[in-house]
Amino acid sequence: MHCPFCRFADTKVIDSRLSHEGDQVRRRRECPECNERFTTFEQAELTYPRIIKRDGSRQTYSEDKLRRGLLRALEKRPVSMNQIDSAIGRINQQLRACGERELSAEILGEWVKEELLALDEVAYVRFASVYHSFQDLEAFRKEIQRLRNNNKRS
Ligand SMILES: [Zn+2]
Repeated sequence: MHCPFCRFADTKVIDSRLSHEGDQVRRRRECPECNERFTTFEQAELTYPRIIKRDGSRQTYSEDKLRRGLLRALEKRPVSMNQIDSAIGRINQQLRACGERELSAEILGEWVKEELLALDEVAYVRFASVYHSFQDLEAFRKEIQRLRNNNKRS
């Protein structure tokens, strides 16, 4: 890391310790050129992108909200909490891995639908019919076919 005082290309770590219940590393550094000392903090980047709603407004991603939506769709269906947690875990992972600071609600909705279709078709139909307000059965059939093809690819 460059020295913030003289811009020398390399600085030496002279002390390194955990802080904040171990989720942050604090390093004391020294510049061999100008001998100035400074501190850096390192922590894992675990932020989710913000969600862009259809009306253009932005919302903080809420895992609780996702869970509530899934539980509503899966009410009285033969799907275990473990399966639901795994689905949420995969969606969280996709959100983090997408590398975007903002993501449209439609893309998030797609991921949720793919997970639901793999878990339980009835739950998927419940979720998708609210989400899309399908005009007719044919549009609905096409949508299911499209998602099945997506699942095969991934
Ligand atoms: Zn320096």
